[in-house]
Amino acid sequence: HVTAIHSDWMAQGKANGAVILITDVTQERQAERMRSEFVANASHELKTPITSIGGFAELLAAGVVKDPDKVQDYLVRIKNETQRMALLIEDILKLASIENSEQNEQSFEPVDLKEVIEEVIENIQPQITARNVTVTADAQDVVIHAVPDDMEALVQNLLDNAVKYNHDGGSVTVKLEKQGGKVCFSVADTGIGIRYEDQPRIFERFYRVDKGRSRKVGGTGLGLSIVKHVVSKYGGEIFLKSIDGKGTAISVTIPL
Ligand code: ADP
Repeated sequence: HVTAIHSDWMAQGKANGAVILITDVTQERQAERMRSEFVANASHELKTPITSIGGFAELLAAGVVKDPDKVQDYLVRIKNETQRMALLIEDILKLASIENSEQNEQSFEPVDLKEVIEEVIENIQPQITARNVTVTADAQDVVIHAVPDDMEALVQNLLDNAVKYNHDGGSVTVKLEKQGGKVCFSVADTGIGIRYEDQPRIFERFYRVDKGRSRKVGGTGLGLSIVKHVVSKYGGEIFLKSIDGKGTAISVTIPL
């Protein structure tokens, strides 16, 4: 049937129309494949904590665990896994909302980036203190027309990683400046660094360099893909420089 329509179009010299139609379908399929890949990954990531919560809850409910220390241990594990799941859901929703707000302009407003940086540093103060990390910020006054949540997610994820993947007693340097018609925001750390072969992959959804270690420090594997999404939404660029074992610097430029 399709062939019949196609040859009819060809006969009328409208073959281009058919080509456009095919391209459309291909793009649609690709988007569909990415969507289902994401759903599969997200389901897998959510299933792990659910299985673990279910298992511990079942043991406790059966009343077979008598040792109070064990009971306490299982409850803490249930609490931790619940927190992990909550963070995952938050990040998944965040990714979806960044994609959605690309279509509607109404939530854009002037955002003071220096203020955002100060707020985020305050928010992650407990982690900073726990790791004994020194954070130095050198920020110019820069106001950007943006969705406030997007800018907060961008700064939060980069700073959070710089502290998380640092050594105890390490340092983080944050810089915000105007360069021509762009704003440049950079976060450099003296942490564990990222091997050259892993560098292109860390912006992929759910990708983590070292699953075991990343799980221990917490996180969802979605932080940098949120950063990538925000930056591409504002037509900006990301630069990554990292030396394994020495540290990482990620800079983002966004046109003002
Ligand atoms: P996560 O929630 O695991 O931190 P991200 O998407 O934010 O997820 O980062 C993906 C991975 O990239 C991390 O698991 C970590 O292995 C690596 N990574 C990110 N930022 C840094 C950094 N500043 N230093 C070293 N490794 C990093």
